Amino acid sequence: MSVLIIAEQQQSCLDEATLSAVTAGSQLGEVDILVAGHDVADVAVQAQKINGVRKVLLADASVYAQGLAETLAPLIVQLADSYSHIIAAATSFGKNLLPRVAALLDCAPVSDVTSIVDTQTFVHPIYAGNAFQTVRSEQPKQLLTIRTTAFALAEVTAGQAIVENIAAVDAPQLSRFVDRSLTKSEHPELTTAKVVVSGGRGLGSAENFAALLNPLADTLNAAIGASRAAVDADYAPNDCQVGQTGKIVAPDLYIAIGISGAIQHLAGMKDSKVIVAINKDAEAPIFKVADYGLVADLHTAVPELIQQIKAIVH
Ligand SMILES: Cc1cc2nc3c(=O)[nH]c(=O)nc-3n(C[C@H](O)[C@H](O)[C@H](O)COP(=O)(O)OP(=O)(O)OC[C@H]3O[C@@H](n4cnc5c(N)ncnc54)[C@H](O)[C@@H]3O)c2cc1C
Repeated sequence: MSVLIIAEQQQSCLDEATLSAVTAGSQLGEVDILVAGHDVADVAVQAQKINGVRKVLLADASVYAQGLAETLAPLIVQLADSYSHIIAAATSFGKNLLPRVAALLDCAPVSDVTSIVDTQTFVHPIYAGNAFQTVRSEQPKQLLTIRTTAFALAEVTAGQAIVENIAAVDAPQLSRFVDRSLTKSEHPELTTAKVVVSGGRGLGSAENFAALLNPLADTLNAAIGASRAAVDADYAPNDCQVGQTGKIVAPDLYIAIGISGAIQHLAGMKDSKVIVAINKDAEAPIFKVADYGLVADLHTAVPELIQQIKAIVH
């Protein structure tokens, strides 16, 4: 079995999501990584050092500068013959790219895999994470996106993969890059942070959201998350949304503040190691998944919590 991992990178840095994909791939066979982009030699060097990687395929061309799925898909299709499995992380990038590759190869992809049973059998969540389905795929080639929180990060220490340069492949000019708006945040990235402080509609306004959550996140070096209701009400930007239609997180500590705990929200955070909930309604469903629950008004509880943490830390 040989496995092709599609690397994800930003600003010359290999994303951690790729390391999870390598761990998943290593359970299936020998792992090669495709690094496609423009001026990405540094990324190839990082990929080279990942333990267990056999070869890094480097497609360094201006056409791949923006990582458009439409231009990358034909490149991956051209490489596909040599691989039994093609894997990407189930991030926005992977979820956009892999179905296109699958369509071109006439394969059905298996999405959001959380566990690998054998080379053709995979477990993945369905019904917003309320059930796990075991799928056996009889297809000659398996295309998978993997849930990054379900696979540990591969180590980047002793790897000595060879780097092979590959040429760009012609792609139909059906789309073009227009603009990219990146949210700048002083907090850690949501999907990889060890601590996430998440706010819901209970915060009541964008001002309260910022005034209460930012200092708490600063104190804990936490990322900021939000429920969809909070995002829809413009308390927080869209890329903070945690849940079925947002990001999947599994930090060491998840603090849900003014979040009721709808199943669509739980789908994105219930694998967190420790869950703390602050809610004034003792019947709120979030308390069913919380390890620690505080029935209190967040306007008094959060400032007190910040004070207590500061007293311990300093
Ligand atoms: C197809 C679909 C996909 C969805 N995807 C997502 C998703 O990805 N992520 C997501 O989050 N939701 C998602 N939703 C929406 C989801 O169903 C809920 O509507 C949403 O999660 C509710 O957000 P909330 O908990 O912030 O708001 P609410 O349900 O309104 O809860 C607010 C909570 O704040 C508490 N509160 C109010 N004031 C205070 C106070 N002063 N102190 C303490 N507590 C207080 C209340 O008791 C309440 O429990 C989706 C829905 C659908 C249909």
